[in-house]
Amino acid sequence: MTHQVNPVRDRLKAAGLRITAPRVAVLEWLAVHPHATADQVAEGVRQVLGSVSTQAVYDVLGACTNAELVRRIEPAGHPARFETRTGDRHHHLVCRSCGRTEDVDFVRGDAACLEPGDAGGFAVDDAEVVFWGLCPNCSRAK
Ligand SMILES: [Zn+2]
Ligand SMILES: [Zn+2]
Repeated sequence: MTHQVNPVRDRLKAAGLRITAPRVAVLEWLAVHPHATADQVAEGVRQVLGSVSTQAVYDVLGACTNAELVRRIEPAGHPARFETRTGDRHHHLVCRSCGRTEDVDFVRGDAACLEPGDAGGFAVDDAEVVFWGLCPNCSRAK
């Protein structure tokens, strides 16, 4: 047994979540496979832990999303995707065809939101941009 620092455990603890094997496995797997769907996470975690129910993985993703350890992205018409990169306000590129999702850093070099032409009296404090298109694989296939 090694006793090295485990950042995932520290993050769970800091978020006030109990440290459980499925939670650690989900966060560790997601850290290397960003923008995965819940089903992909369940499949990946099963290879690490053996048997884990898909429902258990959904529960872990829900708890970690609420605790802001995981960010949930919901591209219209595609299953939700999850990632552990929560500390910033990056945007996403989504492939219309296969749903592949990639990070895009700030559209402008500021964490502040994009400014709508007319905010209609709303006090805007956030904006999320999804750039739709075809990923390199799908454009090559066309
Ligand atoms: Zn694609
Ligand atoms: Zn992302």
